[in-house]
Amino acid sequence: MIDTPLNLREVGRLRVLEALHHVGRSSRSQLTRLTGLSRATVSSIVADLLSAGLIEEAPDTSEPEGRPTGRPAQPLTLIPSAAYAVGADIGHQQVRVAVCDLNGDPIWDTVVAGDTDRAPRETLDLTADLIQQAIREKDIALGDVLGLGVDIATPVRTADGALEAHGIMPGWVGVRPGRELEERTGLTAQVANDADAGALAERLYGAGRGTSDMIYIRLSTGIGAGIVSGGRPLTGVGGLAGEIGHVVSDPRGGICRCGNRGCLGTVAGPAAIARLLEQSWGRRVTVPDLLRLIDEGDRGAVRALEDAAEHIGIVLADLVTLLNPELIVVGGDLAAAGPLLFAPLERAIRRYALAPAAEAVTVVPGELRDQAEVRGAAGMVLAHAPRILADRLAAAERGGDHHPVTTE
Ligand SMILES: [Zn+2]
Repeated sequence: MIDTPLNLREVGRLRVLEALHHVGRSSRSQLTRLTGLSRATVSSIVADLLSAGLIEEAPDTSEPEGRPTGRPAQPLTLIPSAAYAVGADIGHQQVRVAVCDLNGDPIWDTVVAGDTDRAPRETLDLTADLIQQAIREKDIALGDVLGLGVDIATPVRTADGALEAHGIMPGWVGVRPGRELEERTGLTAQVANDADAGALAERLYGAGRGTSDMIYIRLSTGIGAGIVSGGRPLTGVGGLAGEIGHVVSDPRGGICRCGNRGCLGTVAGPAAIARLLEQSWGRRVTVPDLLRLIDEGDRGAVRALEDAAEHIGIVLADLVTLLNPELIVVGGDLAAAGPLLFAPLERAIRRYALAPAAEAVTVVPGELRDQAEVRGAAGMVLAHAPRILADRLAAAERGGDHHPVTTE
């Protein structure tokens, strides 16, 4: 990002871009109201942005509103393909890269499996290769990429983006994936924990739209939560907030990879449920096997799932009492289990949370499924799209352009 202060006209342009980014299609008169700028200033900024190829007049549609100038109230929108953000989701066993347009819709999305936990360097190389492959295959000019958002399945230290990976992702302790990927790709990078990215995506594009107090819980290889409180992500001083998978659920339970005993993840994670079945059946049960068995109504698998859901619900009940959220969005592999998961989980919340807080909360499945994290990673960059675009236009006009916004 370029840090030169914007002059008045450039600030006006930023406000118009922000209004179009947040509200979507808006007429010139709506933009006048939303930005507080004069009608003449809005018209002239709109003309600028049209000729820069950043916005377009939408074909349409709705009832003509007040037309003091006699012009039709033509709605304007950002052109989705005017710029892009790249998201990279680094999980325990896979890397996923997606390129999203200005609306946050993925136009390229690929997953590659690998043992990422123990191989940071190889994983970072693979991620960079996938990013370059995406940009090449979609024929995108590097200057049209606003930046790279990275999410990873371990806490990220807020201060410097280094990983707090002790026991969670062995081999990644102290690694700064943002800086590593900046060096490999030339893109400016931001890093977040995977559940925080999932929470952002569900809030921007999925089940949490319009909510300012929600918990996104991700039931995958690990269990994690992304918390949004008062409209802001809750990360804590060191980036550890929301590590619900390491809340103690059974003090005499098994040793967790974090070094504590009986963490929720060891009792109720998909891998823990599969392990329970392995012990009694004497054969390997993968998470996809588990989901298939549940789907087929296998009694042992269903019982193990229901017990796990109750454990998760008891921990969520405490979070509901403490945080009083409006919504809990359940994502990750296990969410596919449907009512067999949701019914015992909700029953535990109703039973153990403070009654008015339990009544205030709704539990829903995520809408973005396995794309939530990668879209949230790109969404971190897109949240700054108006400012990045305004900075690049200003830089282009001043002749010191590093990143042309449009390529002729
Ligand atoms: Zn733990």
